[in-house]
Amino acid sequence: MILSAKGEPFKQRGRAEAAIKDMPDYVVVEKDDGFVGIVKGTGPRDVVCPGCGQSHHETTDAYDLETNANPSMLTLKEPWKSWGWDDLGKDPSAGYGCLVCPDCGTALAPSGTLTVRI
Ligand SMILES: [Zn+2]
Repeated sequence: MILSAKGEPFKQRGRAEAAIKDMPDYVVVEKDDGFVGIVKGTGPRDVVCPGCGQSHHETTDAYDLETNANPSMLTLKEPWKSWGWDDLGKDPSAGYGCLVCPDCGTALAPSGTLTVRI
């Protein structure tokens, strides 16, 4: 948990959000009593293929649920990476249509959204 520079909880959610602007791994947490702090996010999440249900990829720091998926948001996991399987490229300007399961060929983000395991 990260607190403000004074070592206290942030008084406003906006302040906490500004503090993590350049820290993609972190998320703001807010409690009912108004306590606002910052915690490290859960890190990479498994990207699940809607076709075969397998997970060959995990999310990267570029993963953003608010925007359409692109190749920079996911990366191939082991052991497939070591096997030399295609890692879909890393071009953020490429569309989500090129994101396909390396095993069964199903679109990983058929409507722009990746399925991730929480
Ligand atoms: Zn699949």
